[in-house]
Amino acid sequence: MTPTAWRIFRVVITLILLIGLPTSVILERALSASLLEQIEQDLLSRAAMAEAAARGAEGAELDRLADQLGKAADARYSFIGPDGRVVGDSEFDGSELGAMDDHSARPEVVAALAKGRGKSMRYSTTLDADLLYVAVPRDYADGRGVVRVAMPTTAVDAAVAQTRATLATAGAMALALAIIGSWLAARVVNSQFEGLLDEAKTLALEADAEVADDEEEEEDEAERSDPDIRGTPLPAPSRELEGELSRAVRALAEQRDLVRAVVDGIQDGVIALNAEGRVDLANAAAVQLLDWKKVPRGKRFAKRVPPVLAAHVDDLRELGTAEAELRLDWRTVEVASAELPKTNGLVLVMRDVTELRRLERVRRDFVGNVSHELGTPIAVIRANAETLLDGALDDPIGRQRFTEAIDRQAQRLSALVMDLLQISRIESGELPLDLEELDLAELFANIVEVTAPDAAKRGAAVHVEPTEGTVFADARALESILENLVGNAIKYGGGEVVLAAKTRKGQTRIYVRDNGPGIPEEHRERVFERFYRVDKGRSRDVGGTGLGLSIVRNLAQAMGGRVGVDGAPEGGAAFWIEL
Ligand code: ADP
Repeated sequence: MTPTAWRIFRVVITLILLIGLPTSVILERALSASLLEQIEQDLLSRAAMAEAAARGAEGAELDRLADQLGKAADARYSFIGPDGRVVGDSEFDGSELGAMDDHSARPEVVAALAKGRGKSMRYSTTLDADLLYVAVPRDYADGRGVVRVAMPTTAVDAAVAQTRATLATAGAMALALAIIGSWLAARVVNSQFEGLLDEAKTLALEADAEVADDEEEEEDEAERSDPDIRGTPLPAPSRELEGELSRAVRALAEQRDLVRAVVDGIQDGVIALNAEGRVDLANAAAVQLLDWKKVPRGKRFAKRVPPVLAAHVDDLRELGTAEAELRLDWRTVEVASAELPKTNGLVLVMRDVTELRRLERVRRDFVGNVSHELGTPIAVIRANAETLLDGALDDPIGRQRFTEAIDRQAQRLSALVMDLLQISRIESGELPLDLEELDLAELFANIVEVTAPDAAKRGAAVHVEPTEGTVFADARALESILENLVGNAIKYGGGEVVLAAKTRKGQTRIYVRDNGPGIPEEHRERVFERFYRVDKGRSRDVGGTGLGLSIVRNLAQAMGGRVGVDGAPEGGAAFWIEL
């Protein structure tokens, strides 16, 4: 039996006992009183009958009559004369009668003579029993006496005992019926409670199941489904109430799921803090941004974030809504916030702008560099043209020199513009790549041929190490990469250039080595940046744009490859591209 049913049952039983016990006591008393009265009436009418039967009789006649009546009715009959002497008695005869004491003071005799009837209940030494005496007046020859009838009260006691037994049996049966009835009622009522409770709980659990994404919640849930709740009395359930309740719970759950889905779908980190600065809600983006393993629901926000952010939130409480850009470790994060007026909570919206800020910087630097790179040759061209116009045109030697300078700068400008165009094309993804198996030996022979005029001009030699196999790449892009690397080796190297390839674990690395000064360790990472030059003067002298290696890296990445530079065994640079 569940606690609720047990409770209902106990209340009903207590009520039954409280009402039943006094009732049965009162009932028993009333019954025995009425029984006694009935016997009294009975004795009274017998006395009256005896008086009538004995009219005119006197002396021994009366004693005989008393004997007859007593035998017939199982009671004691006495005729008591006006002087208190017992004239006749059903229990005594002859000499015994004479020995009996004066009865005129007996209460029933006194009352009968005074009021016409009398009764008394007392112990009779003569009969050794409790007797009920009833007396009525009778006219004797010598005056007014009484007729008395007596009966032992044991008869009354027996009748009362029997009544009590009947009452007890009936009471026990009623109690048993009440117990069974109340037990059944308790069960029915309880099952209705349980039904409603179970339904409410199922709905609550269903709704919670989606929220319960951490242990704390599971603990809460355990609390909520504590079996003790079954002992909690609820107002009587009705079908409509249940329906209403489940609809409301379902609507709430749907609403909450919707909000959750929307918040989780936001790319920015969203965090809601309560008035105490504990985390109420955090979406997936926030968890990722702050390197959390899970949402620290109910935990102090300030203890789980870098100090800069904790301090910022502290300031926000004082200053209200504000936006800020904070450096959290290696990240740059934009934090917007709004106060929740009702709860005094705080909502933070955080965006990782690290990459955005880096790109902005690169773009700014690039624009600056391009302006500078274009500005220099244009200034030289203008200066030479002005000199020519100012009269140098008439000077045959000067004319030749200035025009050549203009031509050199124009070529540089043209190379620069071509390189910028190519970079822009690669970066915008406009360059169509057609990846295919390329024969390495064929590829190398081709490069040697294309770079031969340049090598010859600078007195350099390009060698190819015996190579077999193929590489999976776009022919034009890979040729462009190798032309650039070989061109640089010819320009900056010591005259010997080697083209080689190595294949390991399905990865092919192509090397372009030279025996020049090489690239010092500290510049190796940065030579692939746009406009980065190790030796500015030499680059300008050889007509470099500072964009060659940047193009190389962009092309390699477009094909899913990598580039790098090591020191060559010969002491020069060893550039490589891995595909
Ligand atoms: P540039 O047009 O100036 O050659 P690159 O991007 O091709 O620009 O090269 C960047 C810089 O790297 C060059 O200015 C040069 O200082 C250095 N560099 C490139 N290749 C070599 C090499 N093989 N040996 C030494 N330095 C080199």
